Amino acid sequence: MHWSWKIGRLAGIDVYMHATFLLLVGFIVVANWVESHNAARTLYGVFFVLVVFGCVVLHELGHALTARRYGIRTRDIVLLPIGGVARLERMPEEPNHELLVALAGPAVNVLIALGLYGLLVMLGHPPTLRQAETISWTGHAFLPSLVAVNVWLVLFNLIPAFPMDGGRVLRALLAKRMDYTDATQAAAHIGQGIAFVFGFLGLFFDPFLLFIALFVWMGASGEAGMVQMRTSLGGIPVQRVMLTEFRTLQPDDTLEQAVEHILSGWQQDFPVVFGTHVLGVLTREDLMRALAQGGTGGHVRDAMRRDFEAVDSHDMLEQAVQALQRCGCRSLPVEHNGELVGMLTLENVGEFMMIRSAMRKAQQAATTAKATT
Ligand SMILES: [Zn+2]
Repeated sequence: MHWSWKIGRLAGIDVYMHATFLLLVGFIVVANWVESHNAARTLYGVFFVLVVFGCVVLHELGHALTARRYGIRTRDIVLLPIGGVARLERMPEEPNHELLVALAGPAVNVLIALGLYGLLVMLGHPPTLRQAETISWTGHAFLPSLVAVNVWLVLFNLIPAFPMDGGRVLRALLAKRMDYTDATQAAAHIGQGIAFVFGFLGLFFDPFLLFIALFVWMGASGEAGMVQMRTSLGGIPVQRVMLTEFRTLQPDDTLEQAVEHILSGWQQDFPVVFGTHVLGVLTREDLMRALAQGGTGGHVRDAMRRDFEAVDSHDMLEQAVQALQRCGCRSLPVEHNGELVGMLTLENVGEFMMIRSAMRKAQQAATTAKATT
């Protein structure tokens, strides 16, 4: 993710802070200073926000570690001003697993709230309802405020709309009764209905609700789009989509030959082969870098990258697209039994999907025509 800094590593997962998070800290500093003109209080406000985000990290860790139990890795955890995101490599297929992964985050905040509440009772200061309702950002009632924050985190995240955890809970519950794509579609519609109500209320009561409404609206459409892509890719082997006519380079070729290939064809990345065995990949960027450094006389073997991702022609398209996204590549060499058999680019996946959706529409039109006659 651009504009993020790594701030640590927890349970083997990198935790990043997005640059916009600093805006929130800046806002807290200004708000506290304007209110109190007191440096200690201002610092305290910043400290409180950091502790709150500690709770958010634990929440995300709840998702990540539950997902790990089902063999799903978490790419990283990113802290944004609106909260955290644990970026799982994929979502669990099993509705029950998704349900538990989604609930694990809020469950962490329930535990924190209960723990702090217990501590306050033991200290002889059980928080009053009024204290628990109001979150103080300026230094009064640290622990009661933290209890309140965690209760809010639970309530906010359980709003049954994407991208909140509640949206995933809703989908998982629906997916027990219907197909995953339909469940997502239904959950997204419910979420957008909720966003509409929030937006409407926001106009009259609290502008903050408008902000949430916008957030939910975008989250719902994004999730539905992603699942649609996933289902249309699932079950299709790479070999049906891959390109079989393409050019390769040899390690001893000169960079001038690579330049000719780029200028005379459509290809931007070239597998570098010895016989049918792939040794590396020369991307357009690698080539430009090498040209800038040493001119056209150099050899492909010195400019190519040796650590490249490849897919098997029998892999499913879904995994291949994930691999493409993971490495941020334009294309991947496709191998089978250690031999280069094709190339896969995002464009040809996109074309394949376009053709498929056009065919499906034609099919649907034919069935409705049949049903109406
Ligand atoms: Zn969550």
